[in-house]
Amino acid sequence: MSEHDPNCLFCKIVAGQIPSRKVYEDDDVFAFHDIHPWAPVHFLMIPKKHISSMAQLGAGHEALMGRMMVLAPQLALQEGCSPYPEGGFRMVCNTGVEGGQEVHHLHWHVMGGQRPWLRG
Ligand code: AMP
Ligand code: ZN
Repeated sequence: MSEHDPNCLFCKIVAGQIPSRKVYEDDDVFAFHDIHPWAPVHFLMIPKKHISSMAQLGAGHEALMGRMMVLAPQLALQEGCSPYPEGGFRMVCNTGVEGGQEVHHLHWHVMGGQRPWLRG
């Protein structure tokens, strides 16, 4: 698999071929608002290179995944989640069809804000 899949929706978002509301970008990670938010804060965090899902992860991905985990709480606060413990956020990574994954480019949902939420 090359770095980018020309048929992948999220690769097109990274490339700017499909517009998105950007939350964050660096050399390896991109984050943008979910188009159908379930919560007052709901954005997606993705690696820029195409990895289909968590099922494809191996030893070479440890640093990248670690960076995304450390970034998540920073971006959650930046996007308006209240601080832990009264606030906080939820992260979800649907993996595979039975895991509820619809877009097959690895993404973490980061959701937060005052309840009630639309779902969850
Ligand atoms: P999943 O079911 O985990 O694969 O989630 C895919 C998510 O991508 C859903 O929450 C969609 O609302 C979101 N989504 C689909 N298309 C777009 C888009 N063009 N921009 C932002 N979010 C999107
Ligand atoms: Zn992709």
